[in-house]
Amino acid sequence: MSHPFQEALPVLEKLEKHGYKAYFVGGAVRDYILDRPLGDIDIATNAIPEQVMSIFEKTVPIGIEHGTVLVRYQKKSYEVTTFRVDGEYEDFRHPDRVEFVRDIKEDLARRDFTINAIAMDKEGNLVDPFGGRKDLENQVLRTVRNPYDRFQEDPLRIMRAVRFISQLGFKLNSETEEAMKHQGPLLEKIAVERIAAEMEKLLKGTYVHKALQVIKGNLIHSYLPLFKEEKGLIDACIKTVRNPVRELYEGIALFHILDNRFSIQNWCKRWKLSNKIKNKSQQLADTYYCYQKKGLDNTCIYLLDEDVIPSFSNLVKLIEHHDVKEKELKERFKQLPIHSLRDLEVDGQMLKQWFPDRKPGPWMKNILTQLEINVLKGEVKNHKESLKEWVLNWSQREEN
Ligand code: ATP
Ligand code: MG
Repeated sequence: MSHPFQEALPVLEKLEKHGYKAYFVGGAVRDYILDRPLGDIDIATNAIPEQVMSIFEKTVPIGIEHGTVLVRYQKKSYEVTTFRVDGEYEDFRHPDRVEFVRDIKEDLARRDFTINAIAMDKEGNLVDPFGGRKDLENQVLRTVRNPYDRFQEDPLRIMRAVRFISQLGFKLNSETEEAMKHQGPLLEKIAVERIAAEMEKLLKGTYVHKALQVIKGNLIHSYLPLFKEEKGLIDACIKTVRNPVRELYEGIALFHILDNRFSIQNWCKRWKLSNKIKNKSQQLADTYYCYQKKGLDNTCIYLLDEDVIPSFSNLVKLIEHHDVKEKELKERFKQLPIHSLRDLEVDGQMLKQWFPDRKPGPWMKNILTQLEINVLKGEVKNHKESLKEWVLNWSQREEN
């Protein structure tokens, strides 16, 4: 068994020692069989949350109503969830209530896809009532039980399906695909935040190009904010996005660049994205437009935060199919004479001293902006004396 499972093994053993059944479940089992890096390790057990909490020293009741307790064990966290089936999904939100069940097979039956419905015990034996292992081998994505019902119960599964295609490169089982096409309109009923979380994973997936084609082929874009308003956008994406993005904000910048009728503000509002994402997308787009006009000029590189550099490099590669090498960009960034206005060796106080007759006002900001640009262009050194000389000359010219 691989290392992360080794570390989690004592958690299963402890539950079993207390007389309960316990299994690894969900994405970790799938990724283990596929020999992919594991995400979070989830555990299913027939112990109810109170029992789990009494067995382990450090627990956090993160979702008791759904049967989930977070267990901290040797500095790692595991979500331990009681075997359960879901009640009715009213209003396409979370199930109203869940019901605990005795058998792992019943728990596996509530899961979305066969490849996600495999349990593994501490010896590595699989419980696989829906043929998940075979689907993993054949690289097929198929819902557990009837896809029409499963997409109806929770339409998010449609988005999950395309994001698994993007991550794994699998093909859709034909019934699952038909149901997806049919039930697509239900996507408009669910919270956009849930869709956005899947979209992010989709855009970062190795097979994003394939996933975008599946979206178009099944008209899923017709039910996604903004994509539904400009049908050509999905084609533009398919044409452009041949490789994954590194960050969601990179995707948002790209969508905006591909069709600038939708501003970044617009995207973030409709997809309910954070201000942080909005700011980074805007920064990327501004830098891209600057780059289009002036090439790799210092004044463009200056618009970027250091952590956004890899995304800028990737964005240019996606759109223009040529490289702005990340390493070169980082080097250029490091060599910028200033990285923000605060780095200028002059401030408002000094300006007031140099122009004792002037009242503070917009002229100060104006001068600082001029200095910023000219320092970046290498026209003037970022030393107090040189700056002063430049400012006095400049203002004389302005006055004449
Ligand atoms: P990731 O690697 O992105 O974490 P995952 O498969 O583990 O992928 P999670 O969202 O962490 O996905 O969910 C864990 C498991 O819970 C899934 O593997 C699946 O069995 C089940 N599951 C999650 N969301 C749903 C859903 N909407 N409907 C049915 N089952 C779900
Ligand atoms: Mg997971």
